[in-house]
Amino acid sequence: MSTDTTELLKNARIAVIGYGSQGRAHALNLHDSGLHVVVGARPGGPSWQKAQDDGLEVAKPADAVRDADLVALLTPDMVQPKVYTDSIEPYIKPGAALLFAHGFNVHFGQITPRPDIDVNLVAPKGPGALVRSEYERGRGVPCLIAVAHDATGQSEAKARAYAAGIGGARAMLIATDFKEETETDLFGEQAVLCGGASELVTKGFETLVEAGYQPEIAYYEVMHELKLIVDLFYEGGLAKMLQFVSETAQYGDYTRGPRVVDAGTKERMKAVLKEIQDGTFAREWTAEYAAGLPNYKKYKQADLEHPIEKVGAKLRARMAWLHKDKAAVSKADENLKKTG
Ligand code: NAD
Ligand code: MG
Repeated sequence: MSTDTTELLKNARIAVIGYGSQGRAHALNLHDSGLHVVVGARPGGPSWQKAQDDGLEVAKPADAVRDADLVALLTPDMVQPKVYTDSIEPYIKPGAALLFAHGFNVHFGQITPRPDIDVNLVAPKGPGALVRSEYERGRGVPCLIAVAHDATGQSEAKARAYAAGIGGARAMLIATDFKEETETDLFGEQAVLCGGASELVTKGFETLVEAGYQPEIAYYEVMHELKLIVDLFYEGGLAKMLQFVSETAQYGDYTRGPRVVDAGTKERMKAVLKEIQDGTFAREWTAEYAAGLPNYKKYKQADLEHPIEKVGAKLRARMAWLHKDKAAVSKADENLKKTG
């Protein structure tokens, strides 16, 4: 528990631009912490209505920014440069703060903030739904905090006060910089969490099915049961996983795991990291986005058409525990959104 408080922002007007996973959680937590929040949303869009129904003040992004002392830019990363150019740069007050939840655009030069404003970052290490639910329980999700520019001498203090307002300071604040937050976040999702894990699962599935085993059984072995292992990692690291699996499973882990994920894999991880560090990935991805996502759509379609998806849908339809509580299922879906 840190000693940070919301004191510095108690008379501030905070504009939260974007009312999605993080935006909604931040805005509601800040509001419940007694701070003055205005949500910036597009008129007529679903977020506008949702924020209003949640009891928050809503304005067009430019109007929310105009009088704000702190602007949290929480739209998807790829639309942030346009939102910055259209609705923030012309309106934000000198000496106000521009706060991010991910450093991508500032670190890779997609946004160059005006030099007369503070630029900082508060990145919760969890999805928005958890940021909100932990806050409601009187706890918080740990946050990374960083400063890219200090125009007022209070850039870090503002980030700490904001982190206190969303509940992060109740748990832990870890000081970092935009470079470290951005590069480690991208590496994690590419090499291990999204990219690494999905490839490990689908290659394992293919190996079993190509060897003549039933797809239903392969699905259970390599996709479904992964949750049990990940939950053990999450609760108690490698030690808890080893404690709860058999000696046979442990021996297989020690002797076969390093043959599947080996020194060559680590070399390729280093190459992936290098492309993040030298900007290759950021250039490739921003060009892909600007071109209308032609390859992204192709890759996504291929994933959705993988045989593991067909058998998975069939098997999950029979898992009553996934369906008995529709609200819990959609909450789980929300939690499954990319962690930034
Ligand atoms: P999201 O996709 O859930 O929500 C984005 C919101 O922005 C939506 O409400 C959308 O309607 C709105 N929006 C889109 N274009 C807009 C525009 N032009 N003007 C105004 N609003 C617009 O996004 P998210 O996952 O909450 O991500 C927001 C930021 O938080 C990103 O920088 C992301 O990297 C970071 N982050 C996300 C997570 C996570 O778990 N989702 C975790 C940490 C950090
Ligand atoms: Mg994949």
